[in-house]
Amino acid sequence: DVTRTKGREFEDFFLKRELLMGIFEKGFETPSPIQEEAIPIILQNRNVLARAKNGTGKTAAYIIPCLEKTDTSKNEIQVLMLIPTRELALQTSAIVKEVGKHMGLECMVTTGGTSLKDDIMRLYNPVHIIVATPGRILDLASKDVAKLGNCKTIVMDEADKLLSPEFQPVLEQLIGMCHPTHQICMFSATFPVTVKSFCQKFVPNPYSINLMDELTLRGISQFYAFVQERQKVHCLNTLFTKLEINQSIIFCNSVNRVELLAKKITELGFSCFYIHAKMQQANRNRVFHEFRNGATRHLVTSDLFTRGIDIQSVNVVINFDFPKNSETYLHRIGRSGR
Ligand code: ADP
Ligand code: MG
Repeated sequence: DVTRTKGREFEDFFLKRELLMGIFEKGFETPSPIQEEAIPIILQNRNVLARAKNGTGKTAAYIIPCLEKTDTSKNEIQVLMLIPTRELALQTSAIVKEVGKHMGLECMVTTGGTSLKDDIMRLYNPVHIIVATPGRILDLASKDVAKLGNCKTIVMDEADKLLSPEFQPVLEQLIGMCHPTHQICMFSATFPVTVKSFCQKFVPNPYSINLMDELTLRGISQFYAFVQERQKVHCLNTLFTKLEINQSIIFCNSVNRVELLAKKITELGFSCFYIHAKMQQANRNRVFHEFRNGATRHLVTSDLFTRGIDIQSVNVVINFDFPKNSETYLHRIGRSGR
């Protein structure tokens, strides 16, 4: 879903040559609509509230202008990208490094579940861009190991998730530590009302971009089946044999049910991994990495896995358990049809 609307080219944004090279080598030829809208506004240092459907290229819409603004001759943290989950933070930092590979840029990813000491050591060396989950970066910034005082650009990806009650106080503290004249760029497919009050306080006069003209996700066919709880596994078995599945992600509503279902699927004779929030981070990373590399066809997961993850080969998403609300549903099914 990266069709052109205004016919702008990446060259039209007057980006550094090294950055343009990275963009083209990544295989991006022309900007997607959200990129066309967001890149020039972010380059103007404005606050941005951007809403666009899943799979429309929001990541590069903020990464490209952030890279353009970064002055690699300065040994300072200039951009802070806040991401709600560890897997998504890793994915995002990989894209920053790829697109910025000709810029001599230092990007650091820091998340919970990894060694704090390693992160502290890493920060002795130059870092220009930090991609982080909120808790860990607050920890490093409070210890004054990560110095955010010159950071003028704050990105919040999956912003509504970042503004959940557990994260919001952390975010407020982090914003307070950044440069007083910072800009905040918020991206998400869903912006519930909770975001509004936060914006009034912390994101004055934002430029709003809303590309959510259609409710459904283009390119995704949606089906439902009424089944009793005890028939669900049988139904899944039927789907596995009838559908042409390249890779699938199967969602359950609890850690327990993830593990149970993965066991059932394996017993049915299908190759399957599972991933959930109670697993050790190293394990989570390994499973995620292997699934992405095609080591197994099916992945059973809790909603840990719904947001932003981009695995091109997933063509089927199964809501084994009914999602708790429509936003969760949208984020879940956005894992396919990319
Ligand atoms: P979103 O965050 O909006 O859900 P992503 O940023 O994950 O979407 O991008 C979805 C896919 O589109 C990714 O595989 C990405 O590499 C690809 N993509 C992004 N921008 C472009 C572009 N300008 N041209 C071609 N592909 C793109
Ligand atoms: Mg995204």
